Amino acid sequence: MTATTATTLVPRPAEAALEAGGTPADAPVLAVDIGGTKLAAAVVEPGGRIAVSDRIPTPNNPGTDAEGLWRTLAAMLDKLVAEAGGPALAGVGVGCGGPMTWPDAHVSPLNIPAWRDFPLRDRLRETYPGLPVRVHNDAICLAIGEHWRGAGRGRDNMLGMVVSTGVGGGLILNGRLIDGASGNAGHIGHIVVDPTGPTCECGGRGCLEAIARGPGLVAWAREEGWHGTTGVALAADARRGHPVAQSAMRRAGHALGLAIASATHLCDLEVVSIGGGISQAGALLFDPLEETLRTYARMEFARRVSVVPAALGQTSGLVGAAALIFEPDKYWTGAD
Ligand SMILES: [Zn+2]
Repeated sequence: MTATTATTLVPRPAEAALEAGGTPADAPVLAVDIGGTKLAAAVVEPGGRIAVSDRIPTPNNPGTDAEGLWRTLAAMLDKLVAEAGGPALAGVGVGCGGPMTWPDAHVSPLNIPAWRDFPLRDRLRETYPGLPVRVHNDAICLAIGEHWRGAGRGRDNMLGMVVSTGVGGGLILNGRLIDGASGNAGHIGHIVVDPTGPTCECGGRGCLEAIARGPGLVAWAREEGWHGTTGVALAADARRGHPVAQSAMRRAGHALGLAIASATHLCDLEVVSIGGGISQAGALLFDPLEETLRTYARMEFARRVSVVPAALGQTSGLVGAAALIFEPDKYWTGAD
């Protein structure tokens, strides 16, 4: 348990707020980030500051069933809210690995086999009756976090990207999150960057994700004689000067540059932020990305785009999940 406690959050019993006829304006949000490797949660203040947080490994062994995983999550949230002093909450915002139905959030995260069509939003509503509960894709929450309080702050047109086990993204245009017909807009991982490239988990070929996701880079590097097993190790070896690892990062950077050039022309973007484990390779990734982007983003308006590392680090998903509640005019178009 790695919780931090702040002194500025004023604890307030939920009953007191209800008696007063509503939720206080300074009520915090319970934010949750659900992924294949970790469950993270935080009590987030209206400005986006994290008051208390917790993070545990996702129970993901073959014996884990849907209800067992839910009980672990619910207990973690209970404990965290108690630790924050039991404040009246403004709502519950959640980022969860996809795919999911949206906005009702029956979730089937690729990396959490125990949950298939699990009614996450309904369960949270039962647990926190009367509060708004909003769930979105975890990559979209990362993009929202970066737009609201990170690298895209103050810009109206932004693509927030994550490059790790998968490649995901969220799209902000004219200052608003774009959801699309099914909540899936911004899925840049499946833009085709090489029609003759490797097959993709989606069934297609040459998608950005098939090339630039961590396991894709690892598979390519191992064929070239590298002996590691993880994307993070590959990024670290690239920084140490391993030639195959560096080539893998150039390969990822090139693919990202192609996809970002297309997205920039399509959406007239001002800024693209990139987070996730692979982005930690730094200049080894961003330099070839920039070179490819400048080769292919040739329309005058597209040349102005800037590509920057994500600013919020591991907290961006939680901050973005909180913004689903705090800033619905910008970030939530789903039904409540
Ligand atoms: Zn694909």
